[in-house]
Amino acid sequence: MHRLKLSKLFTKTLREPPRDEVAVNAKLLEQGGFIFKNSAGVYSFLPLGWRVAQNIINIVKKEMNQIDGQEVFMPALIEKKFMEASGRWEVDIGFKVVSQNELNSKVQDSSFKFQDSFVLGWTHEEVITAIVAKYINSYRDLPFATYQIQTKFRNEPRAKSGLLRGREFMMKDLYSFHVSEEDLLNYYQKVKDAYFKIFNRCDLKSIYTVAAGGDFTLSDTHEFQVLSDVGEDTIAICLKCEYAENSELNRLKAGDACPKCGEPVTFKKSVEVGNIFPLGTKYAEAFNLYFTDHAGNKKPVVMGSYGIGIGRLMATIVELHNDQKGIIWPESVAPFRVQLIVLDDKFDEGNKLYTNLQASGIEVLYDDRHDKTAGERFADADLIGCPVRLVVSEKTLKYDSVEIKKRQESKNELVGLQNIIGML
Ligand code: ATP
Ligand code: MG
Repeated sequence: MHRLKLSKLFTKTLREPPRDEVAVNAKLLEQGGFIFKNSAGVYSFLPLGWRVAQNIINIVKKEMNQIDGQEVFMPALIEKKFMEASGRWEVDIGFKVVSQNELNSKVQDSSFKFQDSFVLGWTHEEVITAIVAKYINSYRDLPFATYQIQTKFRNEPRAKSGLLRGREFMMKDLYSFHVSEEDLLNYYQKVKDAYFKIFNRCDLKSIYTVAAGGDFTLSDTHEFQVLSDVGEDTIAICLKCEYAENSELNRLKAGDACPKCGEPVTFKKSVEVGNIFPLGTKYAEAFNLYFTDHAGNKKPVVMGSYGIGIGRLMATIVELHNDQKGIIWPESVAPFRVQLIVLDDKFDEGNKLYTNLQASGIEVLYDDRHDKTAGERFADADLIGCPVRLVVSEKTLKYDSVEIKKRQESKNELVGLQNIIGML
């Protein structure tokens, strides 16, 4: 779908941002009709928001495919035995789904009945490793990488920042499998480069940040942090060479010399949009994922795991690209390239331009509403934030032209109706 008429769109923009939201991304995305809050930390993506999410997903998929990631789709329901094998059943971030027996409930009718307990997946190392163990035997089967874009569930205590921290959220999770630590680190660099490309294409400057490894990694892990006061993380960063460490490491104080270039470091708030973990052999050992090397020795496979939050990425884009009037989408992820507004009842001319734009493959959101004032239409265009606004009115038609304005600029100009498509 490359076109949409606002008169037909079932969602509506809101006059005011929702009062129960504090984060800018939540306010603007709900006010613009991109998302709907069903519960705290639980959101629906509406037509405009789903288009943005799909654009982001396509950017992510393209870069994952470029580094030979093989796309799969795993279940959200993860049986207890998998999480027990890794010792993560007890991690209390997951939502547990228990059987009627276990609940000892008197409720007779329930849509969900299970013979054993499950957790709604909050990450998928266990699931993928159990799958891979069925297929991998020899060093000839390695290396490879596989990923999915799928819904994760986490019982986040602080789910109040819109799409930045959901209790249900979409994640791209990539897992890689190697014969050695050296081979893993080689692929790790490729993922790092792919991540920079993804965030750049989303018009976000990301900082590669050394982070704590939790308890199961080989060495340091790395996060991609975007500087923003809305972020829940704090990083120590050298503004000269951009070396950065998560403050949770507790290794640097403000003013300390950067370990790389010696300049003093400063502390900044930031959002973690992605991270990459060398996992080592922990999961391979738990799920009996061994391979036979050249010499015929059995060895555990060395793994890496790499995440990007799709909704968090979308929220971060909004947090960094907005003004008092609304969102300013980067062209790469915008719901539509163009928002077309018709004034003075010039609908015949508007319809014609709409048809021509579509025919030229330009994605256009057409404000053909009869019941809105010019002010309301302009306000909605600014709120929704498509990169280009076109206006057809009595005045522009007098010059056989259309008014063009970029969302992030204040100046507008008239362009001949003959030239507008070429220009776009
Ligand atoms: P955080 O420290 O912010 O909770 P995390 O370390 O738990 O993140 P991972 O488990 O590694 O994150 O998940 C990979 C990616 O998924 C993160 O980099 C982030 O982009 C995204 N993500 C994690 N938790 C959430 C959430 N609750 N809502 C939205 N996105 C999330
Ligand atoms: Mg977390």
